[in-house]
Amino acid sequence: MEKTIEQIHQEALNELEAASEAEAVQALSVGYLGRKGAVTQFLRNISKLPPEQRPAAGKQANKTKKALEKIFEDALNRLKTKDTVTGDRIDVSLPGRTLLAGSVHPITQITKLMCDIFTNLGFDIVEGPEVESDYYNFEALNIPKNHPARDMQDTFYISDNIVLRTHTSPVQIRTMEKQTPPVRIIAPGKVYRCDSDLTHTPMFHQVEGLLVDENVSFGDLKGTITTFVHRMFDDRISLRFRPSFFPFTEPSAEVDILCVICRGKGCRVCSQTGWIEVIGAGMVHPALFENVGYASRFTGFAFGMGVERIAMLKYGIDDIRKYFDNDLRFLRQF
Ligand SMILES: [Zn+2]
Repeated sequence: MEKTIEQIHQEALNELEAASEAEAVQALSVGYLGRKGAVTQFLRNISKLPPEQRPAAGKQANKTKKALEKIFEDALNRLKTKDTVTGDRIDVSLPGRTLLAGSVHPITQITKLMCDIFTNLGFDIVEGPEVESDYYNFEALNIPKNHPARDMQDTFYISDNIVLRTHTSPVQIRTMEKQTPPVRIIAPGKVYRCDSDLTHTPMFHQVEGLLVDENVSFGDLKGTITTFVHRMFDDRISLRFRPSFFPFTEPSAEVDILCVICRGKGCRVCSQTGWIEVIGAGMVHPALFENVGYASRFTGFAFGMGVERIAMLKYGIDDIRKYFDNDLRFLRQF
């Protein structure tokens, strides 16, 4: 004998009881209510019943169909919710997930601040490649092979003639090759040296400056550097220019600023001297102008400084490596 609609209904309920996955419930739904499902078959076979039984059987079958539709749908909803949330219901009292807001890295912030100060003074920002040829990194900057100045910079060599740039100075040459004076540029970017301790990292950032025109004097250099230092720190900070040596400038100077930590009294950061060296600078060496084909009537000055060093002084941080540890507790303070 055929199963009664009540039997089919009961079997569906029993099977649903055992189904713990949404896929299983879906399969049951198709198995009972689909085109070839048991309930659908039963409805089709009603026409074969004796006429007097048909109304009651049809009524009962439709009732079962509706009931099962609702039960399967409820079960599916319950299981889908369970997959995405936990347990049988959504706990509205749970705190939402906090979206962590990112912030601009302190080195990027200082670089931007430096660029802002110089662009306000009329400098343009230019960039150059970090993988550089020996020519641009050394030769064109008046540092021929075997020149002792090459020992001042611990260079990462990629091959005999290709290096990771040790300073942003190659950008000076690349710019002068393309542009006739007046030239007023700063070149921010990453540089690489084989060195690592409290105040050195193998990769660090520099900002290079170059100004070439007629009648540019050392006084213009002093004015530019002084304005920069006063805007970066505060306008009561004293500076001093010490004679120094760089192959690409003549005369050359190193610029010290009064220690911003101890204001000249002497502390660990300034090695008790009260002064901190922040900038290397000088008048562009005539050999560089020759290398790029500039006429001899032009003069110019160049300067370079480490962004990390400026940032350390600006924020009073004595370990450069903190900037690259990616410690969020440190980075969030900026
Ligand atoms: Zn000091």
